Amino acid sequence: MLLELKQLFDVVDDEKRIDYSLDLSDYRLFQNCPFPKPVKIKGKVFNRAGIVTLQLDVSTEAVFVCDRCLDEFQQPFHEQFEHILVRKLNSQSDDYIVVEDARLDLDELVLSDMLLSLPTKILCSEDCRGLCVNCGANLNVADCECGKQE
Ligand SMILES: [Zn+2]
Ligand SMILES: [Zn+2]
Repeated sequence: MLLELKQLFDVVDDEKRIDYSLDLSDYRLFQNCPFPKPVKIKGKVFNRAGIVTLQLDVSTEAVFVCDRCLDEFQQPFHEQFEHILVRKLNSQSDDYIVVEDARLDLDELVLSDMLLSLPTKILCSEDCRGLCVNCGANLNVADCECGKQE
């Protein structure tokens, strides 16, 4: 969705509600599709005293592959994001999003927020036992024979 922000930048106290759903089912993270279900996006963008803030609430049912046992698992994804939008950047800062032509591609921003919010290691559970390095058995499902032989 393309957000038209010209009026928002110009009119103090103006506010726009955001409520739509985004299809990311084609998006691939490595070999898997992490967001097969519609992503619900609610929020608002508002101008308070000339400062334009974007607040987003993003939720969906995500599907990840565990980094340790390589099993696919479902997990609710629910995160909130906030950004300050500016027409141009006066000082160096990563905290602001520059929207020079007063148009913002919200889909692109939501996807990058979602990806940045993911942990570097995605685990099906904190105490996932992973795969046996020797035989490759999934140790969450059953103990293998490897450790028992000696
Ligand atoms: Zn796991
Ligand atoms: Zn084994």
